[in-house]
This record gives sequence, structure tokens and C-alpha cells, in this order.
Amino acid sequence: MPFPLETILPLLEREVSSYQVPVVDLIAAQTRDPFKILVATLLSARTKDEVTATASRRLFARAGTPYELERLTVEELETLIYPVGFFRNKAKFLSRLPAALKDRFGGAVPQDLDSLLTLPGVGRKTANLVMAVAFHRPAICVDTHVHRIMNIWGVVRTTTPLQTEMALQQILPERYWIRINAILVAFGQGTCTPVRPHCDQCVIEKWCPKIGVTPRTVDKKSSGHNGPAAKKFISWNVNGLRAAWKNGLLEVLRDLDADIVALQEIKIHPDQLPDPLRQVDGYQVFWNPAKKKGYAGTAVLTKTAPLRVWHGLDSPLLDEEGRVLTLEFADFYFINVYAPNAQPELRRLAFKQDFNRTLLAHMDRLSRDKSLVLCGDLNVAHKEIDLANPKANVRNPGFSEQERAWMDAVIAAGYIDTFRKFDPSPARYTWWSYRFNARAKNIGWRIDYFLVDRASEGRVVDAAILDDVIGSDHCPVSMIFR
Ligand code: SF4
Repeated sequence: MPFPLETILPLLEREVSSYQVPVVDLIAAQTRDPFKILVATLLSARTKDEVTATASRRLFARAGTPYELERLTVEELETLIYPVGFFRNKAKFLSRLPAALKDRFGGAVPQDLDSLLTLPGVGRKTANLVMAVAFHRPAICVDTHVHRIMNIWGVVRTTTPLQTEMALQQILPERYWIRINAILVAFGQGTCTPVRPHCDQCVIEKWCPKIGVTPRTVDKKSSGHNGPAAKKFISWNVNGLRAAWKNGLLEVLRDLDADIVALQEIKIHPDQLPDPLRQVDGYQVFWNPAKKKGYAGTAVLTKTAPLRVWHGLDSPLLDEEGRVLTLEFADFYFINVYAPNAQPELRRLAFKQDFNRTLLAHMDRLSRDKSLVLCGDLNVAHKEIDLANPKANVRNPGFSEQERAWMDAVIAAGYIDTFRKFDPSPARYTWWSYRFNARAKNIGWRIDYFLVDRASEGRVVDAAILDDVIGSDHCPVSMIFR
């Protein structure tokens, strides 16, 4: 049965009228000023509404017009808008905004999509929201909530917000275009949350197919206690910690606010770290650098102190490159892996196979004792769906028969590729070559994983690819585990 959108949306609109209003709509209602709406929308990306509201208030007290904004330096802007997500980038965009408005649009905020997209830092989501909220022009702003919830309902079956926007232009009655973002942002923050949505108290539960959803479980006897708290894990090949730091690594870590962060290819020794990386707020850090400077290496940041830490696989030869770090916690082991690259003409395949065999034995040994989580860059795309050009890469490193056979063996041994548990769609990648504009064209590979042992599958709440996070040729991957 098709999802009854026309029945649901009026119901939801009534439901969320008592919820907190999304910050951009609030600023629109308070100011009716397209410039402030544009600035608040820019600040709101990857930022909690409360933080956007406070930062906007501080900024507008100093600069409520393009003319006033022009007089602030980038450093002043950074101070005013901190701690919004990616505040350094946003400060740069804001400092270029007045000139862009003046030079091309006579100082006014333009009203059409193409013109808005020429402004610094303005992507499709921002442009659509400004059109809808500031100018009441029919535009569908598809953010993470709209994209996610429309897929949960099966109204669309898409993998990117752009595909969702295009599909909704065909399906969604036009009278909802402007309002849909405010409705689903409020609903996505209050009820249909990204992790463990509150299906038990959802007004549209009886119509919802709950595609790909793990609802929260409510233990009625313990008055709303939901079992062990879910923990957020992140894995990211940063392709050089120093470069990633210059690209905003610390802001990304702050925004993601994970319990454990596993980093690969750090290419640095702890004694070479720049000062801000010596102590990362709230985390204990464990390092396993390669012997050779500027090469490979892994690190794990954790908010909870581990019981034990192992460096490597107990093999002098395999351990020279700092590729494995294992942490033991009370009810799980956490292994961070940066697998070797098999190299052109598979020159290093034998080394990689030796590494892979030893790693699997290590996993099997630990998973007999308690839950096992393994993450990292395994340097292999498992199936054809996991890379953009499978035919052209059949004998290449990362997609050779031998490397894929090892992944088959891992899955056959009972380990779960957690991302595929939630998302079977193609074109979901974690690494793109720096050449040929590959990331913009999404010509990539999925070679970064979160695996768990079969007995712990029920502890996995969510797994995702965070492909909107930049700063390396890989993007982070995440898993929620309880
Ligand atoms: S039933 Fe659950 S998954 Fe469906 S819309 Fe409601 S909260 Fe979201």
C-alpha cells in the first residue's frame, strides 16, 4: 500500500505545532529579513539549533546588515560564531558574503536558486531553505531529516538528498514544498530521531513501514529506562593527522562528539604532534605509529578509559607499520585497523595476506571472550556494489580476487558488515581518489568498515557513511552500539 502522504502531513503539522520551532524558521518569524535568514541558515549546517540561535544572536548584535558584516575580520567572526560546526570555514564564507552580494546583486539577497548557489558557502540545501523561508517561493529544502524520514516511509528510495529533492518534486503536493522542511526537522528532532526513533509514541505509527529503522525499546517496568546507553564510534582514515588538523579535524571531532574515535594513516609520531593535538578535550589518546616516520600508523581516542591496550598483532614483521590497535573495555573489544595496500601489480599482496590471516585469528581469539567491534580502512572493496568501476578494477589492489576472498572468509566466519545491515544501496563510498575530480563525481570505493561478531549484531543500533565530512580523501564511517 502506498504511504498515505496526504493523510500524514496534516496530522504531523498539528503534532509538531507544540514542538520547538527550527531555528531558521524562528529567526524568519522574528526578523523577516532575508539577509539574517541567509546568515542563520549558513550557521545552522551541522550545528545544534540552540548553538545556532546563540551564535546568530551574538553575530547580529554586531552585524545585522551586509555593510556591518563587511567591517568584521575573519578572526572576529570566528570568535562571534564559535562554537557552531566548522566555524572557521563559515567565518571565511561570511567575510566574503557582503562583497558577493554587492558585486552581483546590488547588496540584496537574490531570490532564485542559481543566483543563491553562487554565494560563498551556499549549497543546495541552504539555497532552497532561503528561497522557501525568506521569499516563500516553492522550493523543497532536503536536509538530513527530510531525506531520512522520506526513505523510512518508502515515499522515496534514494541515497542522496539531491535524489530525494528531485523525487519529491514529482510526488509532493506543491502546497507542502515550503513547509515540509520545518515539519520534518521538528519531527526528526523530537520523535523520529536518527537513533532509536520513538515509534512507541509516534502519532503516525500505524501507517509507517519503518524501513531500515531500529525503534527504541521501552522497558515499562523501569519507567522509561532504555537499556545500556548507546555509544557512538567513528572510524576515519585521515591521510596524515597534521593535514587533517589543518583541514578542521578538531572541529569535526567536536561536532561528531563520539565516544570512541579510531584514526588510521596518521603519518606522525606523538613527539611530532602540533600542540593542539597533544591533548584532545575529553579524550584519552592511544597511539601506534609506524617505525618509519611520515607513514601509516593508527590512533584511538576514547572518552572511557580502557582496561587494556594492545599494540599490533604480536608479530615483529607485521607490527612495524603501526597498523593495529586493540582496546579492551568491560563488555567489548575494539580493534582499529589500517590494512596494507596490496600495491600496483599486487606487489605487496603476500604481505597483506599474511597480515589479514593474522588479523582474522586475532579477531576470532577475542570474539570468543566478549563482543568484538573492528573498524578501519581494510583497503578492500568487498563486492561489485562497493566501488564505482568494478569491471575495470578486477585485478587491481583493493579489488583483487585474493583480497575479496579474505572478506568472504571474514563474513563466513560470522562477522557482520554493519553498514550493509542498514543500507543496501549502491554508490555509497568512503574513499575517492584526489585525481579526476573523483569525489565530486562520486567515483569512489567503500573500503572503510565497522564489523561486529555475529553474537553482537543485536547491539548495533545504526551504521553510516558520513560522506559530507571533508578533510581527507576518505570520509568517516560511524556505528552506534549499545
Ligand atoms: S513510526 Fe517510528 S520510524 Fe515511523 S515515523 Fe514514527 S518514529 Fe519514525
